[in-house]
Amino acid sequence: MAFELLPGDECVMKGDFRHEGAIIFQRDQIVQIRDISPDPQRPGFKYVVYSPALNALVRLPGTVLIRIACPNCRTRLTAIGGDCVNCGWEDPESEQAKSQQSVADFRKKMWNRHNRYGGGGDFYGGY
Ligand SMILES: [Zn+2]
Repeated sequence: MAFELLPGDECVMKGDFRHEGAIIFQRDQIVQIRDISPDPQRPGFKYVVYSPALNALVRLPGTVLIRIACPNCRTRLTAIGGDCVNCGWEDPESEQAKSQQSVADFRKKMWNRHNRYGGGGDFYGGY
């Protein structure tokens, strides 16, 4: 993850999460970070959340969690990876996604122009 989650942050599960074979968290289930406490055996598993299925606290890795609340003001984000409508915080991961998107758009535009001008490589000769 590009950022650290903190106690109190709300997240949604990226996918089903199994513990000893049983699904204890389902995809899109909302969890709240209770504490940061790395598992000595698996240091990546450091986000302590409550599992209703187990009626216990368990540690999850950041890779299975998606932040859904603003880290500044705790306002629930209107969209996953969206910006905070309250304080203007922007998810660095969504910034990354946006820049990747704009590269994709750019490629598509170039491709369209290329086609419109009949292709063949002459289009690039003018530059
Ligand atoms: Zn905010």
